[in-house]
Amino acid sequence: MSLPQAKTVGFKRGERNIFFHILTACNLSCRHCYINPKEQGTETVSRENLEKWLKLFQDDRKETNVIFLGGEPTMHPDLPHAVRFAKELGYSSVTVDTNGFLFHDFLANVKTSDLDFLSFSLDGPTPEINDMLRGDGVFQTCTTNLRSAVASGFNVSLIYTVSRYNIDHLHKMVPLLAAWGVKRFFIQVIGIRGKTAISDADTWQLTPAEWLAKIPGVAADAAAHGITAIFPKVYLEPGEKFECAGRVAENYFIFPNGRVYQCPLCEDYPVNGFRIAENRLIANTGITETRLFSLDIPEGCVINKLLQTENLSYDAAGKPLYKISCCLLKQELKGR
Ligand code: SF4
Ligand code: SF4
Repeated sequence: MSLPQAKTVGFKRGERNIFFHILTACNLSCRHCYINPKEQGTETVSRENLEKWLKLFQDDRKETNVIFLGGEPTMHPDLPHAVRFAKELGYSSVTVDTNGFLFHDFLANVKTSDLDFLSFSLDGPTPEINDMLRGDGVFQTCTTNLRSAVASGFNVSLIYTVSRYNIDHLHKMVPLLAAWGVKRFFIQVIGIRGKTAISDADTWQLTPAEWLAKIPGVAADAAAHGITAIFPKVYLEPGEKFECAGRVAENYFIFPNGRVYQCPLCEDYPVNGFRIAENRLIANTGITETRLFSLDIPEGCVINKLLQTENLSYDAAGKPLYKISCCLLKQELKGR
């Protein structure tokens, strides 16, 4: 049986996505945590700067979306205020990504009309799988709060970061998501960032064959259960056009220390293209990610070629067997 074809969601000109890390602190210590305090700092964005930076990035002429994340963003006591403020400023959509602990009585302090999506991170269908990666007791807390959020009327998504440690269990998520009332299922590929960049990277990453054998089928099953599945493109088909989001899209990954990146793969290095200083967005000079975006190589994504060479394969003549797409390019299968 052939699988339904996922739609590649191309980069939308005139759209701006703000990934706002409002703190880097977290109550958990996931084995694959992508936060790197050495580069991203340990500060918390003040209430005053939450407002100023949200104003700085909002643009009435563009569809502007904000995703609040961390660390664990609900540890910030001013997150409910920031959500409301973003909506009042005219952001097209407001999302919060949480590890599920929902500190400061988050659900009671945010209106469902102010928050377009609340996304929970869970990396396994059982405590054994999830808690091995995210910590003891996390499955229970996260799923209890997820169900409370659905019962309170929030639109709930779930983010599952696939690695070799949990890929075999991914398909078991679909019936759970359907039973819990989750509307969107984000299947992420493990990135070699933060902790996974420091130790045993090769034990986490998936080969193209492993990825392609599993992910499209699970996404199709989710869609058949009425859940929209979103997953990264990763490997381009022959003839598919490569585009670097750093060149053609507007994505800003903001950190509390004022660094602003356009490419998440660069976040472990001091190559951020921009910084916020004196409440202005300033383009950095010198060797920055911006200069790397302009390099055209047969392998596709240049940062992948620099940092994740194990993703690449070549024929006997040294020609890449496939191009690696931009990590921000997604495929979507709408729930039916
Ligand atoms: S919940 Fe997120 S920020 Fe916290 S430790 Fe896990 S991956 Fe890191
Ligand atoms: S992941 Fe690669 S293609 Fe995408 S923005 Fe970064 S450098 Fe560009």
